[in-house]
Amino acid sequence: MSILVLATQNKGKTKEIKHILKNFPITIKNLNDFGPIPEVEEDGETFDDNAYKKASFTARVLGYPAMADDSGLVVEALNGKPGVKSARYAGDNAKTSDNCEKLIKDMKDKKNRKAFFECVISIAVPTGQALTYQGKCNGLITYKAKGNNGFGYDPFFFYPDFNKTFAEISMEEKNKVSHRGKALNQVGQEFDKILKWIDMHKIQLSSCEKPVT
Ligand code: IMP
Repeated sequence: MSILVLATQNKGKTKEIKHILKNFPITIKNLNDFGPIPEVEEDGETFDDNAYKKASFTARVLGYPAMADDSGLVVEALNGKPGVKSARYAGDNAKTSDNCEKLIKDMKDKKNRKAFFECVISIAVPTGQALTYQGKCNGLITYKAKGNNGFGYDPFFFYPDFNKTFAEISMEEKNKVSHRGKALNQVGQEFDKILKWIDMHKIQLSSCEKPVT
């Protein structure tokens, strides 16, 4: 059976992806199943850059197809910030509370509260080729935190269709409409094709490696 390595150590993410791909003939592993590999610097200018960087690096180092995601919050009135810096908006070692505090301060006088979460998933093979999936979710930045569920900017992300913030809904409800949920669903729906694509690139790799006789 083919192996797909998730470029993460996060148990929650791994469980979620294993669940979505449970009916497919693939063994899912994550970075904890291998010895330590060097960390990838997430210094890309787009979510796509960072997801591809993580997936292709992991695939090259471990020799198996790899999948990585990158996501964040994009706020219109802040010209797209925090964007790819969502995890470290208030500084390199910032905590979630620091990032949220900075967001609310920067948004204090802004009338335009429009924002979206974006997630890009990259699936790369060791030779460097990759497939890309993207999910987006539109909402509004609140003035105050509301709700205790979720993580990151969820208490400040109001989702109009539910009339609630992402921190006021369950994980199941969030997964149906969220950026990550949408991108992952596409991967699940297309996974038959993805498996064929992975196989095709395996053949290419083994024929490249054949010694010249
Ligand atoms: P990562 O790509 O999963 O590492 O997410 C990067 C950062 O984006 C996180 O640290 C959060 O600050 C923010 N973020 C991404 N997705 C969400 C979400 O669903 N809710 C709240 N914050 C998120």
